[in-house]
Amino acid sequence: MPAPGYDKWIEIDLDAIKSNFTEIKKILDEDVRLIAVVKADAYGHGAVAVAQLLYNNGVDFFAVSYLEEALKLRNAGLKASIMLFCPLIDSEDMKQAVENNVVISITSYKEAEILNEAAMRLNKMARVHLKIESGLHRFGLNEEEALEVCRYLSGNPCIYIEGIYTHMAYAADEKYTEKQFKHFMQVVSRLEREGFDIPIKHCANSTVFLRYSHMHLNAVRIGTLLSGQHPLGKFEKRLNLKDPYKFKSRIISIKEVSKGSYLGYFKTYRLKKDAKIAVIPVGFRDGLALEVANPPVGFIDFLKITAKRFLAYLNDPRYCMKVKIKGKLYPVRGKVFMQMALVELPLEAEIDVGDEVEVPVRKTLTSDNVPRFYISQGEPGKLEADNRMVYLTGSEEGL
Ligand SMILES: *Cc1c(COP(=O)(O)O)cnc(C)c1O
Repeated sequence: MPAPGYDKWIEIDLDAIKSNFTEIKKILDEDVRLIAVVKADAYGHGAVAVAQLLYNNGVDFFAVSYLEEALKLRNAGLKASIMLFCPLIDSEDMKQAVENNVVISITSYKEAEILNEAAMRLNKMARVHLKIESGLHRFGLNEEEALEVCRYLSGNPCIYIEGIYTHMAYAADEKYTEKQFKHFMQVVSRLEREGFDIPIKHCANSTVFLRYSHMHLNAVRIGTLLSGQHPLGKFEKRLNLKDPYKFKSRIISIKEVSKGSYLGYFKTYRLKKDAKIAVIPVGFRDGLALEVANPPVGFIDFLKITAKRFLAYLNDPRYCMKVKIKGKLYPVRGKVFMQMALVELPLEAEIDVGDEVEVPVRKTLTSDNVPRFYISQGEPGKLEADNRMVYLTGSEEGL
């Protein structure tokens, strides 16, 4: 249990992450490199701790979106390769990336120019992966641009074009994905014909990795599977994954409330019977009840989302948010507050103030203020745990 003084915390089971890694390796050919994606603080699990664990287990290549994320890992002592997905647009950042041996994605000719200039000022090898646009339209080079960038950068002996990659837009759509793949391979062979043989080729994220083995090439970029989730979409679940993440809290108040009373702001819920109402110190400030408000994936998805919201409005117990206390689920009632929420317990429930509650907060939306506790039974490297819980936040701990 965490130290007194914490009324909410996250427990991360390092053994579960390790076990997910072992599962992934079962369908990963030995000559295919795993690039562990630890962006967005390793999807909420803590990038430093996750990278350290995977590094201790043989992963030598990591990826993040931004320079700041890469430097955090470097400053924590990670010796492995770290690549950026996002382009660097100013020369100071480019310089910092090269100085810290961070692998740079080039997505435009302009960036190649900035890099060229930065690499000449430093006497250090800059490692580059070319990002190819194939249908996501986020960033990337088209065929001609890729060729121009190769010609331009190959003139600089301080620049090593080590990799080439693309990213799939919709892996559940086989036709679209095959089309993207074909385009990518076409760019790769064009460059090869022009004399640019780039060693590391990659295009698979978790979904592509699971669905299309011919797209593994010689590296795959995996994030979602490591964090214990199967990607969205219908396909055979081939791996036995474990969720390493639990958001926990404690009850800070329990009061009996009689049938017919309204709960919370705006009278959105009226008690159907006498009950005990528990308060948990977790609100939308912490990430509870937050959702990503992206457009639905087509009309059917829109209907599904709307139906679920409607059923939740009618208080259908299947679609109501629930917390877990002593192994049982109880409904959250009324609107979630900024820093609190209400839970309905039956009168006979043997639950007290101080009891632990498991709260369904989305990992990537959890506030950074909530401390993480790492649990491991095994050998968590330099975390110094022997069957104990280890407390670690951010990057204070070295690798
Ligand atoms: C996030 C990301 C990944 C990892 O995707 P998962 O589906 O989480 O495995 C791979 N490549 C790029 C470019 C990404 O942005």
